[in-house]
Amino acid sequence: MRKIQKINILHNFQKTSERVVDELREKLLAKEFDVSATYDNDADLNICVGGDGVILIGMREVGFPEIPFIGINTGHLGFFQELCPEDIDCLIDHLQNDDFQLERLYLVESAVCTEDKCIPLTGINEIVIKGIDSKVIHLNINIGDETLESYSGDGIIISTPMGSTAYNMSAGGSLVYPTLGVLQMTALAPINSRVYRSLTNSVIVPFNMTIELVPEYRDENSILIVVDGVQLAYRDITNLKFWVSEHKLTRLTTQEHHFWSNIKTKFL
Ligand code: NAP
Repeated sequence: MRKIQKINILHNFQKTSERVVDELREKLLAKEFDVSATYDNDADLNICVGGDGVILIGMREVGFPEIPFIGINTGHLGFFQELCPEDIDCLIDHLQNDDFQLERLYLVESAVCTEDKCIPLTGINEIVIKGIDSKVIHLNINIGDETLESYSGDGIIISTPMGSTAYNMSAGGSLVYPTLGVLQMTALAPINSRVYRSLTNSVIVPFNMTIELVPEYRDENSILIVVDGVQLAYRDITNLKFWVSEHKLTRLTTQEHHFWSNIKTKFL
């Protein structure tokens, strides 16, 4: 990787974030880094100031770039964010001394097919399939070439490793180390009765297998898709396929094995 010189700063518009951005910009310029006034596709690093939303929304808005990112948390949970505002000087030292690692983070890709087209979607945390108006949905689930089960319940979360600590975790899914190339399928309130039966555990699927959800005919127009918290709806869905994307995000980290300390400080 070339030496880090050109830097983009992405941020939310909360007062604290704007103060941190001013301080960050000033300190970077004092150490002779180039800080772009507008987003530069040719930059060497994206520094994201805010909460997790800045990563989820910001990375999508700039087209899931290959440029590495690091986050500075200015409130909220900040699971993606490794640093707090007090760490700015330390970050600059790490950048000047090339003292950092790069982690590749897997994304989930999906094709949502209707009777006449397939719509591509990409998720950083997850893609959730739910019933419109809180209706139970009925899905046939295929993994690879196998039919796994018929599911009935509130919905299904297809989570990336990075998203495993988000909605997936609240739904009882496992925490997955972020650099593993897998997807996790976690059911939301699966119905188990004499009429309907499906797995209550989450399932981890390797990178070379596709998860396919096929709605029962009566659900074709009652499905909601939520990508990293953003709601979408399409008519006449015939099937939805999910796989680990070839494209990855790159996170710059100044601490080895930050995942485990992050779990301890953010959740325990
Ligand atoms: P949001 O209010 O932006 O986020 C909800 C909470 O999830 C925030 O505290 C956020 O952190 C945290 N978060 C986001 N990504 C995370 C990750 N990878 N690991 C751990 N925590 C994470 O909610 P939204 O706009 O509806 O959706 C954004 C994300 O929230 C979704 O991708 C989904 O994973 C999660 N979500 C969770 C639930 C649930 O747990 N029941 C329900 C809906 C959505 P910050 O405070 O730093 O922003």
